[in-house]
Amino acid sequence: MRLCRALERHHLALRPRTVLNTGELKGLTIMMPKPRTDILENTLEFETLPLVKPTGFREYDARWWFNGIGHEKPAELNLEGVKALGLGMATLFHELGVEPKVVTGHDFRSISAGIKNALILGLVQGGCEVLDVGLALSPMVYWSQFELDAPCCAMVTASHNENGWTGVKMGADKPLTFGPEEMGRLKEIVLSGAFEPRAGGGHFHVDGMLDKYVEEASKGVRIKRKLKVVCACGNGTAGAFAPQALRAMGAEVIEMDCNLDNTFPKYNPNPEDTEMLHAMAAAVEEHGADVALGFDGDGDRCGVVDNTGEEIFADKIGLMLARDLSKNYENATFVVDVKSTGLYKTDPVLKENGATVDYYKTGHSYIKRRTNELGALAGFEKSGHFFFQPPIGLGYDDGIVAAGAILAMLDRNPDKTMADLKGELGVAFTSLTMSPHCDDEIKYSVIDKMVAEYEALNGMEILGRKVVDVNTVNGARVTLEDGSWVLVRASSNKPELVVVVESMASEDDMRDLFHKEVKPRLGKHAEVGAYNQEI
Ligand SMILES: [Zn+2]
Repeated sequence: MRLCRALERHHLALRPRTVLNTGELKGLTIMMPKPRTDILENTLEFETLPLVKPTGFREYDARWWFNGIGHEKPAELNLEGVKALGLGMATLFHELGVEPKVVTGHDFRSISAGIKNALILGLVQGGCEVLDVGLALSPMVYWSQFELDAPCCAMVTASHNENGWTGVKMGADKPLTFGPEEMGRLKEIVLSGAFEPRAGGGHFHVDGMLDKYVEEASKGVRIKRKLKVVCACGNGTAGAFAPQALRAMGAEVIEMDCNLDNTFPKYNPNPEDTEMLHAMAAAVEEHGADVALGFDGDGDRCGVVDNTGEEIFADKIGLMLARDLSKNYENATFVVDVKSTGLYKTDPVLKENGATVDYYKTGHSYIKRRTNELGALAGFEKSGHFFFQPPIGLGYDDGIVAAGAILAMLDRNPDKTMADLKGELGVAFTSLTMSPHCDDEIKYSVIDKMVAEYEALNGMEILGRKVVDVNTVNGARVTLEDGSWVLVRASSNKPELVVVVESMASEDDMRDLFHKEVKPRLGKHAEVGAYNQEI
């Protein structure tokens, strides 16, 4: 309202229905310029015009390289560009017809608070009521949408990416986050400069949400069993949340890198990377812990190392949780992503309890959406996103709620260790997620070629076994007659491809599936670069 009055005082020419995109003030045009994609840092243009590279708009969130100075890689986004993004989001929220009420938050990085403030300026300019909850985990922002009755959210985070990256996770229909359609429309609005500034926006700081969130996220779990838990945060944002939450659940907590340090002195907080997993394993051994729980940079993922120091991938954790939960929730549905083990299909406990398992597209947004659509009890994504529907969770991915589900499972099985519970699963040898570099602009065309190659191999043999299925819901998941499979797909948030293999036979065979099958086949494509890690 105050903004409106100020503009009126200066005789601003308003377009009908308070749309202000071509306002004039004392003969000067007031509008957000169309963002450019070709501005270099350390120039006058960089300081005055919005820069937004199109590659930052991913399938279900946004990530840009922000810090170019002193690096070879030039910046893909500047602060004016972030404002344009906020205004574009506001334009989209109005277009979607939702109440333009937005929860914002930011992760613990040196650049995040400033980027969030620029984003808020854009959102307010677009007529949004912004409720800023401050330093947050992504799930705290999702939870605040329920708590503050706000349909929309915008969380500034680069998750586990190295310093210099930034990004936004956003939604307009809680508990869901944007999918490819909304992201595509947002990209269109921002890059074409089709902004619709509106009056009526406002910005409010909401205090005390951190403590309230920690209390709520841990409320459902009170364990009776004595459990020693390593809580690993890699100096990321989760350090301000997870130790308190796990203690409230009744665990004895051993803090590991829970002090916030945005230089990330040890490694990027990513419980899917071997570096963090090895450190967690060492801590389990040192302290004789029952389990280690590791959280990523924005706390929407949880990684697990068992009491013997062995990492358990999220699909196996999901299978353990599904077996445990299916006893209390008969005929439950579980959604898992295509990177997940084939053991869900053959598990006798799930069969006995009438559980249904649905394999769906990799990506936190897809699995979340699918879990909600199917009314599934839970969805598990191989990268460590767990989605629990009521009464366990609210449908979004929350590493702390996932940690609670794991502690509750251990509590319900007081005579068994994590390793015992894992030992009850069938045997499969699954690789790490291996990611060869491949530029964003060409990664999908490389995958198209690989899908075509594998489709042509359907019914033929790979390493002496017949190809029985080529699932192309997301890249190519190629299943052999003994149940072993290989997966090649494009990463949704990095210039990389994603490779996973699983053997039902042996660890050697798992290595062969990679070294004798996928790696040489991908190697024939010149655009495919070095792997981040290999088995
Ligand atoms: Zn994350």
